[in-house]
Amino acid sequence: MTHAWLFTGPPGSGRSNAAVAFAAALECTDPHIIGCGTCEQCRKVQRGAHTDVVHITPRELTIGVETMRTEVVTPAAMLPTVGKWRIVILDNADRLTDAAANTLLKTVEEPPAHTVIMLCAPSTDPEDIIPTLLSRSRHLYIPQPSIDDIVAILTRTDNATEADARRAAMASGNHIGRARHLLHHQESQIRRTNILNLAELIFHGSQAFQAVTSLVKTATDEAKNSLAETNEQELEKLRTALGMGAKGRGAHKALRGSAGQIKELEKLQKRRETRAIRDALDTQLVDLIGIYRDALMIAAHAQVSPIHPDMQGLAGELSTIGEPNLLACIEAISHCRDDITHNVRAETAMDAMVGRIRKACNVQ
Ligand SMILES: [Zn+2]
Repeated sequence: MTHAWLFTGPPGSGRSNAAVAFAAALECTDPHIIGCGTCEQCRKVQRGAHTDVVHITPRELTIGVETMRTEVVTPAAMLPTVGKWRIVILDNADRLTDAAANTLLKTVEEPPAHTVIMLCAPSTDPEDIIPTLLSRSRHLYIPQPSIDDIVAILTRTDNATEADARRAAMASGNHIGRARHLLHHQESQIRRTNILNLAELIFHGSQAFQAVTSLVKTATDEAKNSLAETNEQELEKLRTALGMGAKGRGAHKALRGSAGQIKELEKLQKRRETRAIRDALDTQLVDLIGIYRDALMIAAHAQVSPIHPDMQGLAGELSTIGEPNLLACIEAISHCRDDITHNVRAETAMDAMVGRIRKACNVQ
């Protein structure tokens, strides 16, 4: 049995679900079918309720040494209690800092006999996973599902009509989770419409710049709202653990020490928020690339399925600016995605993008 596995695949390919299914198969107790999906162990793993399967989904920008020690290395060293294996699944392993990766390396090099570690990352590129970890792991590539696969899943499990499922699947960029979200959440459909609308607003004076301000604000507000409850709960838990609010001797001194820990937690929460905002904007920018790509396909008379089938009118209009200009627009958006990843303020990066697209579209 290999003790370290690496699941790679583009976002939405289901690499993390594949790891969970594999974990279920390892813990399965059915004598005939490995990974039966119906025995108690299988179901517990799939529900995320199995005591021997630890599934970590970091939401911060990076995973540091401390998180690695407490959430991965320590649990991995424990013996299984009810199951056959102790399994640790780590999502977003591409966010490991070098130091955290080296901390994990020791466990992967000399794994406890009953421990299996599963890492999930976008690719085997050294940017995503350090070569020493890669060379000690068994690699499994999970390809992206096709549009038809996604339609089949959504009609089967989400009660979607064929037409709704196909529209969501095509707009999702082959991402099952995204397709499902588009299907069920009106606000994500509105967000998609708003970003695609930007391609139209480019031609309307300064409206595109105003739209950028509003897009960034919406992404920021939504990230803040979605994290607010978790953040407050975490802070409350920490305050209680630190005995804040206590009175009497020693309380004052304890309070001074706690301030540092509270600050640390707030810093971590801030990082998580930044990540959520960037992820939301990145999804929108990928949508925006899609419309220029569709226009490019029309300009090139290519017989391929559009990414945004419901926006073919706009794509048709954009196609008239010609292939080199459309490529320049796509380049501008890619540039903006890079800038945001490299800590350029979102609004600044997107304003620059709008400027470049205006130039490519010959807007005076
Ligand atoms: Zn089973």
